[in-house]
Amino acid sequence: MEALLTGKTCVVTGGSKGIGRAMVELFAREGGRVYYLSRGEAEDPAALAAAATSGGSVAWRKCDVSVEAEVDATLEAIVKEAGALDVVVNNAGVTRDGLVFRMSLEDWETVIRTNLTSAFLVSRTAARHMIKKRAGSIINVSSVVGIMGNGGQTNYAASKAGLIGFTKSLAREVSSRGVRVNALAPGFIETAMTDKIPEELKEKMKTTIPLGRHGAPEEVAKAALFLASDLASYVTGEVLKVDGGMGM
Ligand code: NAP
Repeated sequence: MEALLTGKTCVVTGGSKGIGRAMVELFAREGGRVYYLSRGEAEDPAALAAAATSGGSVAWRKCDVSVEAEVDATLEAIVKEAGALDVVVNNAGVTRDGLVFRMSLEDWETVIRTNLTSAFLVSRTAARHMIKKRAGSIINVSSVVGIMGNGGQTNYAASKAGLIGFTKSLAREVSSRGVRVNALAPGFIETAMTDKIPEELKEKMKTTIPLGRHGAPEEVAKAALFLASDLASYVTGEVLKVDGGMGM
Protein backbone atom coordinates (compact mmCIF):
# COMPACT_ATOMS: atom_id res chain seq x y z
CA MET A 1 0.00 0.00 0.00
CA GLU A 2 1.32 3.46 -0.87
CA ALA A 3 2.25 5.71 2.07
CA LEU A 4 -0.72 7.85 3.10
CA LEU A 5 0.93 11.30 3.05
CA THR A 6 3.32 11.06 0.13
CA GLY A 7 3.97 14.50 -1.32
CA LYS A 8 1.97 16.30 1.39
CA THR A 9 3.38 19.24 3.32
CA CYS A 10 2.29 18.93 6.95
CA VAL A 11 2.64 21.36 9.84
CA VAL A 12 2.28 20.07 13.41
CA THR A 13 2.32 22.68 16.17
CA GLY A 14 3.85 21.53 19.44
CA GLY A 15 5.63 18.64 17.73
CA SER A 16 8.68 18.54 19.99
CA LYS A 17 7.25 16.04 22.45
CA GLY A 18 4.22 14.03 23.52
CA ILE A 19 1.28 13.63 21.17
CA GLY A 20 2.64 16.10 18.62
CA ARG A 21 5.95 14.30 18.41
CA ALA A 22 4.19 10.98 17.78
CA MET A 23 2.28 12.68 14.93
CA VAL A 24 5.49 14.08 13.43
CA GLU A 25 7.08 10.62 13.42
CA LEU A 26 4.04 8.87 11.98
CA PHE A 27 3.36 11.51 9.32
CA ALA A 28 7.02 11.41 8.22
CA ARG A 29 6.96 7.61 8.09
CA GLU A 30 3.92 7.95 5.83
CA GLY A 31 5.87 10.06 3.37
CA GLY A 32 4.88 13.53 4.62
CA ARG A 33 7.16 16.54 4.43
CA VAL A 34 6.66 17.48 8.06
CA TYR A 35 7.44 20.78 9.78
CA TYR A 36 7.00 20.93 13.53
CA LEU A 37 6.68 24.18 15.44
CA SER A 38 7.54 24.73 19.09
CA ARG A 39 9.39 27.17 21.29
CA GLY A 40 12.19 24.66 21.94
CA GLU A 41 13.44 21.88 19.69
CA ALA A 42 12.89 18.20 20.52
CA GLU A 43 15.51 16.77 22.87
CA ASP A 44 16.78 14.36 20.22
CA PRO A 45 16.05 15.99 16.85
CA ALA A 46 18.22 13.48 14.98
CA ALA A 47 16.08 10.57 16.19
CA LEU A 48 12.98 12.44 15.14
CA ALA A 49 14.37 13.19 11.68
CA ALA A 50 15.43 9.54 11.33
CA ALA A 51 11.78 8.51 11.57
CA ALA A 52 11.26 9.83 8.04
CA THR A 53 10.90 7.04 5.50
CA SER A 54 8.96 6.60 2.25
CA GLY A 55 10.37 9.92 1.03
CA GLY A 56 9.18 11.85 4.10
CA SER A 57 11.18 14.48 5.95
CA VAL A 58 11.18 16.31 9.30
CA ALA A 59 12.18 19.94 9.94
CA TRP A 60 11.80 22.16 12.99
CA ARG A 61 10.82 25.82 13.02
CA LYS A 62 11.03 27.80 16.25
CA CYS A 63 7.67 29.47 16.72
CA ASP A 64 5.57 30.55 19.67
CA VAL A 65 2.11 29.86 18.26
CA SER A 66 0.48 32.32 20.63
CA VAL A 67 2.27 35.23 18.91
CA GLU A 68 0.60 36.48 15.72
CA ALA A 69 3.73 37.83 14.01
CA GLU A 70 5.68 34.61 14.63
CA VAL A 71 2.88 32.40 13.29
CA ASP A 72 2.36 34.50 10.16
CA ALA A 73 6.08 34.69 9.33
CA THR A 74 6.72 31.00 10.03
CA LEU A 75 3.82 29.67 7.98
CA GLU A 76 4.49 31.97 5.03
CA ALA A 77 8.15 30.86 5.03
CA ILE A 78 7.13 27.20 5.04
CA VAL A 79 4.70 27.68 2.17
CA LYS A 80 7.39 29.53 0.21
CA GLU A 81 9.93 26.77 0.82
CA ALA A 82 7.63 23.77 0.35
CA GLY A 83 5.36 25.32 -2.28
CA ALA A 84 2.25 24.03 -0.51
CA LEU A 85 0.44 23.46 2.75
CA ASP A 86 -1.72 20.34 2.79
CA VAL A 87 -2.17 19.31 6.44
CA VAL A 88 -2.14 21.39 9.61
CA VAL A 89 -2.47 20.00 13.12
CA ASN A 90 -3.13 22.56 15.84
CA ASN A 91 -1.72 20.48 18.67
CA ALA A 92 0.33 22.87 20.84
CA GLY A 93 -1.20 23.20 24.26
CA VAL A 94 -0.51 24.02 27.89
CA THR A 95 -2.26 23.74 31.25
CA ARG A 96 -2.31 26.21 34.14
CA ASP A 97 -4.65 24.39 36.51
CA GLY A 98 -6.35 25.88 39.53
CA LEU A 99 -9.75 26.54 41.06
CA VAL A 100 -11.50 29.43 39.39
CA PHE A 101 -11.65 31.64 42.48
CA ARG A 102 -7.85 31.44 42.80
CA MET A 103 -6.99 31.68 39.09
CA SER A 104 -5.04 34.69 37.88
CA LEU A 105 -6.04 36.46 34.69
CA GLU A 106 -2.57 35.64 33.41
CA ASP A 107 -3.14 31.89 33.80
CA TRP A 108 -6.52 32.20 32.11
CA GLU A 109 -5.13 34.21 29.18
CA THR A 110 -2.01 32.08 28.69
CA VAL A 111 -4.11 28.95 28.25
CA ILE A 112 -6.70 30.57 25.97
CA ARG A 113 -4.01 32.18 23.82
CA THR A 114 -1.81 29.10 23.54
CA ASN A 115 -4.55 26.53 23.04
CA LEU A 116 -7.31 28.42 21.20
CA THR A 117 -6.09 31.70 19.71
CA SER A 118 -3.13 29.83 18.20
CA ALA A 119 -5.51 27.59 16.25
CA PHE A 120 -7.21 30.70 14.84
CA LEU A 121 -3.87 32.25 13.86
CA VAL A 122 -2.48 29.10 12.23
CA SER A 123 -5.74 28.15 10.51
CA ARG A 124 -6.24 31.68 9.13
CA THR A 125 -3.07 31.48 7.07
CA ALA A 126 -3.46 27.77 6.32
CA ALA A 127 -7.04 28.16 5.09
CA ARG A 128 -6.03 30.94 2.68
CA HIS A 129 -3.55 28.62 0.97
CA MET A 130 -5.72 25.51 1.13
CA ILE A 131 -8.77 27.27 -0.34
CA LYS A 132 -6.70 28.36 -3.34
CA LYS A 133 -5.67 24.73 -3.88
CA ARG A 134 -9.18 23.48 -3.15
CA ALA A 135 -7.73 20.83 -0.86
CA GLY A 136 -6.43 20.48 2.67
CA SER A 137 -7.01 19.06 6.12
CA ILE A 138 -6.98 21.03 9.37
CA ILE A 139 -7.02 19.08 12.63
CA ASN A 140 -7.54 20.74 16.00
CA VAL A 141 -6.48 18.85 19.11
CA SER A 142 -9.24 19.40 21.64
CA SER A 143 -9.83 17.13 24.66
CA VAL A 144 -12.59 15.11 26.33
CA VAL A 145 -12.34 17.79 29.01
CA GLY A 146 -13.73 20.25 26.43
CA ILE A 147 -16.81 18.02 26.19
CA MET A 148 -17.23 16.83 29.80
CA GLY A 149 -15.66 19.71 31.79
CA ASN A 150 -13.20 19.17 34.65
CA GLY A 151 -12.98 20.89 38.01
CA GLY A 152 -9.69 22.80 38.37
CA GLN A 153 -9.40 23.26 34.61
CA THR A 154 -11.90 26.00 33.71
CA ASN A 155 -9.35 27.77 31.51
CA TYR A 156 -8.20 24.57 29.79
CA ALA A 157 -11.73 23.19 29.32
CA ALA A 158 -12.91 26.53 27.92
CA SER A 159 -10.04 26.53 25.42
CA LYS A 160 -10.79 22.94 24.36
CA ALA A 161 -14.55 23.49 24.12
CA GLY A 162 -13.78 26.64 22.11
CA LEU A 163 -11.74 24.54 19.70
CA ILE A 164 -14.78 22.35 19.03
CA GLY A 165 -16.95 25.36 18.13
CA PHE A 166 -14.09 26.74 16.08
CA THR A 167 -13.69 23.43 14.23
CA LYS A 168 -17.36 23.11 13.31
CA SER A 169 -17.68 26.76 12.26
CA LEU A 170 -14.54 26.70 10.14
CA ALA A 171 -15.67 23.42 8.58
CA ARG A 172 -18.89 25.17 7.52
CA GLU A 173 -16.87 28.03 6.01
CA VAL A 174 -14.35 26.05 3.98
CA SER A 175 -15.60 22.51 3.29
CA SER A 176 -17.34 23.53 0.06
CA ARG A 177 -13.89 24.58 -1.14
CA GLY A 178 -12.34 21.19 -0.53
CA VAL A 179 -10.82 21.90 2.89
CA ARG A 180 -11.79 19.51 5.69
CA VAL A 181 -11.66 20.61 9.33
CA ASN A 182 -11.93 18.14 12.21
CA ALA A 183 -11.09 17.88 15.90
CA LEU A 184 -9.55 15.13 18.00
CA ALA A 185 -10.61 14.75 21.61
CA PRO A 186 -8.02 12.65 23.42
CA GLY A 187 -8.73 11.30 26.89
CA PHE A 188 -5.92 10.58 29.35
CA ILE A 189 -2.71 10.19 27.35
CA GLU A 190 0.68 9.54 28.97
CA THR A 191 2.88 12.57 28.19
CA ALA A 192 4.80 15.28 30.05
CA MET A 193 1.49 17.12 30.43
CA THR A 194 -0.06 14.31 32.48
CA ASP A 195 3.22 13.35 34.24
CA LYS A 196 2.52 16.05 36.82
CA ILE A 197 -0.59 14.24 38.09
CA PRO A 198 0.03 12.21 41.28
CA GLU A 199 0.38 8.44 40.68
CA GLU A 200 -2.51 7.60 43.01
CA LEU A 201 -4.90 9.88 41.10
CA LYS A 202 -3.73 8.47 37.77
CA GLU A 203 -4.55 4.93 38.95
CA LYS A 204 -7.96 6.09 40.17
CA MET A 205 -8.68 7.67 36.79
CA LYS A 206 -8.23 4.31 35.09
CA THR A 207 -11.41 3.12 36.79
CA THR A 208 -13.35 5.78 34.81
CA ILE A 209 -11.98 4.52 31.48
CA PRO A 210 -13.91 1.60 29.91
CA LEU A 211 -10.74 0.26 28.24
CA GLY A 212 -9.14 0.31 31.72
CA ARG A 213 -5.86 2.01 30.82
CA HIS A 214 -4.32 5.32 29.82
CA GLY A 215 -3.63 6.01 26.15
CA ALA A 216 -0.31 6.38 24.34
CA PRO A 217 0.61 9.35 22.12
CA GLU A 218 0.95 6.98 19.16
CA GLU A 219 -2.73 6.03 19.49
CA VAL A 220 -3.76 9.67 19.04
CA ALA A 221 -1.30 10.03 16.16
CA LYS A 222 -2.99 7.18 14.29
CA ALA A 223 -6.35 8.97 14.53
CA ALA A 224 -4.68 12.17 13.29
CA LEU A 225 -3.23 10.26 10.34
CA PHE A 226 -6.72 9.08 9.42
CA LEU A 227 -8.11 12.63 9.49
CA ALA A 228 -5.07 14.02 7.65
CA SER A 229 -5.19 11.52 4.82
CA ASP A 230 -7.62 10.74 2.03
CA LEU A 231 -8.95 7.87 4.16
CA ALA A 232 -11.13 10.58 5.71
CA SER A 233 -12.09 12.22 2.40
CA TYR A 234 -15.78 12.45 3.43
CA VAL A 235 -15.20 13.50 7.05
CA THR A 236 -15.47 17.15 8.09
CA GLY A 237 -16.75 19.01 11.16
CA GLU A 238 -16.27 15.85 13.22
CA VAL A 239 -14.97 15.49 16.78
CA LEU A 240 -13.20 12.15 17.07
CA LYS A 241 -12.70 10.96 20.64
CA VAL A 242 -9.57 8.92 21.31
CA ASP A 243 -10.18 8.24 24.96
CA GLY A 244 -10.70 4.53 25.66
CA GLY A 245 -14.40 5.29 26.05
CA MET A 246 -13.91 7.80 28.88
CA GLY A 247 -16.17 10.48 27.41
CA MET A 248 -19.08 8.40 26.12
P1 NAP B 1 3.15 18.09 26.00
O1 NAP B 1 3.86 16.78 26.06
O2 NAP B 1 3.28 19.02 27.16
O3 NAP B 1 3.60 18.84 24.66
C1 NAP B 1 3.11 20.12 24.37
C2 NAP B 1 3.75 20.63 23.11
O4 NAP B 1 3.25 21.94 22.83
C3 NAP B 1 5.27 20.75 23.19
O5 NAP B 1 5.84 20.40 21.95
C4 NAP B 1 5.47 22.23 23.48
O6 NAP B 1 6.76 22.66 23.05
C5 NAP B 1 4.34 22.83 22.62
N1 NAP B 1 3.96 24.19 23.00
C6 NAP B 1 3.45 24.62 24.19
N2 NAP B 1 3.26 25.94 24.14
C7 NAP B 1 3.62 26.36 22.91
C8 NAP B 1 3.65 27.61 22.25
N3 NAP B 1 3.24 28.73 22.87
N4 NAP B 1 4.10 27.66 20.98
C9 NAP B 1 4.53 26.56 20.36
N5 NAP B 1 4.51 25.33 20.91
C10 NAP B 1 4.07 25.25 22.17
O7 NAP B 1 1.58 17.90 25.81
P2 NAP B 1 0.73 16.69 25.16
O8 NAP B 1 0.16 15.90 26.26
O9 NAP B 1 1.50 16.02 24.09
O10 NAP B 1 -0.48 17.52 24.54
C11 NAP B 1 -0.58 17.84 23.15
C12 NAP B 1 -1.98 18.36 22.89
O11 NAP B 1 -2.94 17.36 23.26
C13 NAP B 1 -2.33 19.58 23.74
O12 NAP B 1 -3.13 20.47 22.99
C14 NAP B 1 -3.14 19.00 24.88
O13 NAP B 1 -4.02 19.94 25.44
C15 NAP B 1 -3.87 17.89 24.14
N6 NAP B 1 -4.39 16.84 25.01
C16 NAP B 1 -3.54 16.12 25.80
C17 NAP B 1 -4.06 15.11 26.62
C18 NAP B 1 -3.19 14.27 27.51
O14 NAP B 1 -3.74 13.49 28.31
N7 NAP B 1 -1.86 14.34 27.41
C19 NAP B 1 -5.43 14.87 26.62
C20 NAP B 1 -6.25 15.62 25.81
C21 NAP B 1 -5.72 16.60 25.00
P3 NAP B 1 7.54 23.92 23.71
O15 NAP B 1 7.22 23.88 25.17
O16 NAP B 1 8.98 23.68 23.38
O17 NAP B 1 7.01 25.12 23.03
